[in-house]
Amino acid sequence: MSVTTAFAPLLDLVYPPRCPLCGEAIAAQKGLCLDCWSTLEIPSASGEDGITAATLYNDTARQLVLNFKHGRKIALAGMMARQIAGRLPDLEGEWLAIPVPLHRIRLWQRGFNQSALLATELCKLVAARPLVDGLVRTRRTPSLGGLGREERARVLDGAIAVREVHRSRIAGANILLVDDVLTSGATTNACRSALDQAGAARLHVACFSRVPEGRLG
Ligand SMILES: [Zn+2]
Repeated sequence: MSVTTAFAPLLDLVYPPRCPLCGEAIAAQKGLCLDCWSTLEIPSASGEDGITAATLYNDTARQLVLNFKHGRKIALAGMMARQIAGRLPDLEGEWLAIPVPLHRIRLWQRGFNQSALLATELCKLVAARPLVDGLVRTRRTPSLGGLGREERARVLDGAIAVREVHRSRIAGANILLVDDVLTSGATTNACRSALDQAGAARLHVACFSRVPEGRLG
């Protein structure tokens, strides 16, 4: 537990809460300032294609995700999960929330899987149960940046699998696949095919931010 979370009430008195992006003083911990809020882009439609994104991936969203991942601002997880939950369609029946997995070496380097944190926070808000190790990376893959669609698919082929001990739980289950940023969809597709092979019933993707087709690098 960080010093900030352990002593939040005390710190609020000594150091007023600040926007995690720009440092502006704000009324309460756990949020962005109004200026930063207003620069987040919200997608016009959500959920129709089986994907719910809380925001479009612009500079503000990118900064938030970077702070979340590398600045260890784990408190941001709650705020980002609330944004996703607010846009999810009603989940009928029973759902398992499974995060996009990190390779264990990456996990060890970073100390946490940001998508697993999002999934855990999301399950406090919607009718789903977390299964944070439902999927695993079977090998390390290089960064997908700069690769074309086919290359990405080739690099990821067989790199993500259902964890054997959870196979029977996943068979027939509705799965909420949780990711922080959805870029080309190659990683999501690799997760989808592993879950399909294990006999998952329905799949809905829930992410904090989605890169619009036109902005793919
Ligand atoms: Zn701000």
